[in-house]
Amino acid sequence: MKNIIILLCILLSSSLKAQSLNSFSETIKIFNDEKSTQTCDSLMINYRINQPKLIKNYTSVQIQKIFNRREEYLLGLHVGKREYALSIEKKDNGCHHFSLNIIFNADIYLANETLHQKCTYLRTRDHEFQHFIFEVDEIKKKNEWILNILKYNKTSYQIDNPPYKKSYYDQSVIEIESGFAIRNKKKHESIDTKENYFKEQLSCPEHETSDFIETVSFNKLFRN
Ligand SMILES: [Zn+2]
Repeated sequence: MKNIIILLCILLSSSLKAQSLNSFSETIKIFNDEKSTQTCDSLMINYRINQPKLIKNYTSVQIQKIFNRREEYLLGLHVGKREYALSIEKKDNGCHHFSLNIIFNADIYLANETLHQKCTYLRTRDHEFQHFIFEVDEIKKKNEWILNILKYNKTSYQIDNPPYKKSYYDQSVIEIESGFAIRNKKKHESIDTKENYFKEQLSCPEHETSDFIETVSFNKLFRN
């Protein structure tokens, strides 16, 4: 009986864990004023943010090579990717309803050499997770700037005309993506300073840092 209870507890805790790892979606309607013909367009943003995938089987040097990074002792890396799907519906009153789906997927790479150093592993994971949170925060904001891009481009393309529609979609996605990159740059840079790396390093026992450097140097020579 005891075994059964333990088994149930394990099953319960693993299902709770699985639940917290589920992706979620939310819809926000950020602009909807149909009274004025100038401002009658509306935009619906649906976003799905998936839990980041932790990837731990690459060495520090392998991660450097894959992503062409120059850091000599790279502990981890956050790699996020947004996917967009945009649709436009023209209503009887001539207004357009834009619907934008954004899916955000992220991979968090943690150098294989950190796995046996608990503090270094956790601080690296937390650091990379902070990069993920920066991206998520910006996606979840009420993004009027996205509507402005969509509306501004509408004046350049005849969006009811199929040949122009594709260019409109493509151009808008390029601008929205670059908008996210610009908005997030400063936030990412704020934790990627020498001072902050040093501060984070001090939060772990000194021997972990020297062990990490030693293992990476060894792997450079004999593994990758
Ligand atoms: Zn960083």
